[in-house]
Amino acid sequence: MDTLWAPWRMKYIDGINNDGSHSGCFLCAARDAKDDREALVFLRRPHAFAVLNRFPYNNGHTLIVPAAHKGDLADLPDDPMLALMTLTRDVLAVFRRVLRPDGFNVGFNVGRTAGAGLPEHLHLHIVPRWNGDTNFMPVLADTKVIPQALEDVYDRLTKALQDTP
Ligand SMILES: [Zn+2]
Repeated sequence: MDTLWAPWRMKYIDGINNDGSHSGCFLCAARDAKDDREALVFLRRPHAFAVLNRFPYNNGHTLIVPAAHKGDLADLPDDPMLALMTLTRDVLAVFRRVLRPDGFNVGFNVGRTAGAGLPEHLHLHIVPRWNGDTNFMPVLADTKVIPQALEDVYDRLTKALQDTP
């Protein structure tokens, strides 16, 4: 399996404290944000929301997040669990229309050993994949490109969601 090369993630890794904790929960911060565009939250539901990952593995890398600060699937009641999966379904649908990927990686990293950057607040990753993207991504390996790419994809997604509620 080819590995995506995403050197701008070093900024994210640098933000993790020595004891492995974050200074605050960035997912709760996104949930409570007043400005959705600034927070990159592009879809909100009562029990869950979708936010673009500020340190993406690929264009459009999204986190599907339960509103409640819970670290384990076992702690989620049925309603938020269903909300998580219906939101995932709907985000995949809008991605297919707007970004036209060839595939997706969709899944949970449970526990820091498994790669969870924030094990205290459960989140499902959606990483759109395009044929040849493992060759393409080094071209985007300029950290200045990332904020611009994030705003661009955010605006395209929110526009598509407005056009087709
Ligand atoms: Zn949280």
